[in-house]
Amino acid sequence: MGYIELMDISKSYNKQRNVLNGIDLQIEKGEFFVLVGPSGSGKSTLLRMIAGLEEISGGTLKISEKIVNHLPPKDRNLSMVFQNYALYPHLTVEQNILFGLNAQKVDREIQQKRLEETAQMMGLNELLKRKPRELSGGQRQRVALARAVVSEAPLCLMDEPLSNLDAKLRANMRIEIRRLQKRLGLTMVYVTHDQVEAMTMGDRIMVLNDGIIQQVGEPIDLYNKPSNLFVATFIGSPK
Ligand code: ADP
Ligand code: MG
Repeated sequence: MGYIELMDISKSYNKQRNVLNGIDLQIEKGEFFVLVGPSGSGKSTLLRMIAGLEEISGGTLKISEKIVNHLPPKDRNLSMVFQNYALYPHLTVEQNILFGLNAQKVDREIQQKRLEETAQMMGLNELLKRKPRELSGGQRQRVALARAVVSEAPLCLMDEPLSNLDAKLRANMRIEIRRLQKRLGLTMVYVTHDQVEAMTMGDRIMVLNDGIIQQVGEPIDLYNKPSNLFVATFIGSPK
C-alpha cells in the first residue's frame, strides 16, 4: 500500500472537459516522486488536489491509508513550496520561517528551537533579521525551503520551485533539495516541466500528457524502455 494513493482520480474545472483522467498512482513513504510533463498537462492541478487546495471531481485520494478527499489542507500534515515562493515582503526571514508555526500557535520555546535547527541546517543563521528584498534569489529560495522544513511535516509538495532561478543556482538547489529530502526522510512530490530535473532528482517519475499518465517508472526505465513515442520524445529531447 502506498503512502499516497490516487484511485481513478479525475478533475474538471467548471464542468468543462476533464483536465485529468483516470489517474491511478501510488507514492511510497520516503520516496522522491517527480511529476513531469509539458505545460498544461495537469501537473499543478494534481499537486493541488493532493494538497487539498483543489476539489477532486472523481475518484479517491488516500494519504496514510485515510481517505482525504474532503480533508482541509491544514489537517493533511504536509508542507508546500511553490514557484514564486511568496515570502512576506514586510516580514524578516525569521518571521517568514515561523509564520506557519505562529499561526498554529505552537509554543514559543518550541518555535525558537525549531528555528535554530532549521536555520542551521539551511545555512540561514546570518540572514534571519533581513527582509526578503535584501536576499538573493537563491537565498529567498532557501527561506522558502526552510518554511517547509520547519513545519516538520512528513510530506512535502513542490511545484516548479526552481524555475525562477538561473541555471547554475538551479543545479545547486537540486542537490540541496535532494539532500534535505534524504536527511529528513521526507516523502516528496515534486512537479517540474524540466526533463533533466526529473531524470536527475526522481527515485520514480510519472510522465503526464494532456491529463493522462503516459508512464511511471525509474529514470533508467523511462530512458531505456519508454512506453510510447511521447515518453521517448519528451524524455529524450534536450530542453
Ligand atoms: P500544468 O501545471 O501541467 O501546467 P495545470 O494543472 O496548471 O497544468 O493545468 C491543466 C489544465 O487545467 C490546463 O488546460 C489549464 O488551463 C486548466 N486549468 C488550470 N487551473 C485552472 C482553473 N483554476 N480554472 C480553469 N482551468 C484551469
Ligand atoms: Mg503548473
